Amino acid sequence: MMYKPYSLQNFREIPQMKFLSEEQKFGIEVVGTVLPFKTDNYVVDELIDWSNFEKDPFFILNFPQREMLGEKDFSKVASLLKQNVPRAGMLNEVKKIRMKLNPNPAEQESNVPEFKGKRLNGIQHKYREIMLFFPTQGQTCHAYCTYCFRWPQFALNEFKFAMKEADQMVEYLKANTHITDVLFTGGDPAVMKTKFFEHYFDALLEANIPHLRNIRIGTKSLTYWPYRFTSDPDADELLRLFGKVKKRGINVALMAHINHPGELKTPAAKEAVNRLLNAGVQIRAQSPLLKHINDRSEIWAGNWKEQVSQGIIPYYMFVARDTGAQDYFAVTLNRAWQIYRSAYSQVSGIARTVKGPSMSCSPGKVQITGVTEIKGQKVFVLNFIQGRDPSWVGKPFFARFDPHAVWFDELKPAFGEPDFFYEQSYHEMLA
Ligand SMILES: *Cc1c(COP(=O)(O)O)cnc(C)c1O
Ligand code: SF4
Repeated sequence: MMYKPYSLQNFREIPQMKFLSEEQKFGIEVVGTVLPFKTDNYVVDELIDWSNFEKDPFFILNFPQREMLGEKDFSKVASLLKQNVPRAGMLNEVKKIRMKLNPNPAEQESNVPEFKGKRLNGIQHKYREIMLFFPTQGQTCHAYCTYCFRWPQFALNEFKFAMKEADQMVEYLKANTHITDVLFTGGDPAVMKTKFFEHYFDALLEANIPHLRNIRIGTKSLTYWPYRFTSDPDADELLRLFGKVKKRGINVALMAHINHPGELKTPAAKEAVNRLLNAGVQIRAQSPLLKHINDRSEIWAGNWKEQVSQGIIPYYMFVARDTGAQDYFAVTLNRAWQIYRSAYSQVSGIARTVKGPSMSCSPGKVQITGVTEIKGQKVFVLNFIQGRDPSWVGKPFFARFDPHAVWFDELKPAFGEPDFFYEQSYHEMLA
């Protein structure tokens, strides 16, 4: 299958656009001017059900929706487009709107390490055991999720993390013996040609680092472009490379974003999963919880069941991040917990490897463990699944219940406490 990307410039050529009104197409243009927009022929032809596209999760996942922008911002951009203002002239207005959408959530720049007097801008190291690596060639995706928290990587150059020097990554890794995992991320590193994977992986193998146990690849390609692992010209080579890493005793884990069970039901996706598993690759699945896409417990239970039956390990349920079109996708924390709990209770123990609902916040990954009442006060029970300081992990703590809260920063400590237990050491750490 030939990969055919669609963006603002050519989306009107998609044959299925005949189902949209002119106003709907213009809406895509308006919102796509502010938030990145890209899809491909696989998503369009194999995933989206065009007979009901307005409600289709995959349509909403890739095609910008009018409600993703506030009314005022939408009108502003719409009127600029109608006046045919040249793109350069619009940029200022567009940038103002983007900056309102919290383009840099969870203080990611504080994860960028300094090493031998230099900031390593293609690395993030927040949790002791795991380092993120942003290979320069992997900083785009086959198609863009409208909920993506990395959207500023595509839309705003100043928020770009990227690195192409394998030796810096290797040196940093050698010097930090606590790190067991390197996670290749982006964007989607699986957009890279196999020769780039080879460049990085060979550098890691040659360095012979005993503490390196897992190479992870964060990717959406499994379900946006499964041919990456089946019929692309360098697909076989990629699987052989994974096999080679595996033979050297390093686990290769594909961290697949799978938002909805429908993504796993096409023949192409099934074949990709099969081939990866046969090559010895572990596949783990994660997704945010998103209104309009997967905000029902049956969808999650169905997703985990489908994953397990194909040999995929359910891994994380995230709360949608506080960035970009968050208002459009937001589910309250209370409801997130209920959906998680209900879905969890619908599956057998083999699918209960999943953790969540989890918020990726600046201090760490905070899980909503439950809602309960203690001495007459209704509270959220919270827990760090990951912390900037590993000693915070696994200690339950309490926030006042708030039925409307959609993100951690809206929560206040319960029982009249001035701070959460970790806050003082967190502020000292960042200072
Ligand atoms: C989620 C995340 C990781 C991975 O954490 P695991 O719990 O090991 O999967 C690593 N770094 C950052 C910055 C993260 O947000
Ligand atoms: S595939 Fe991942 S990085 Fe790419 S747009 Fe989707 S969420 Fe963002």
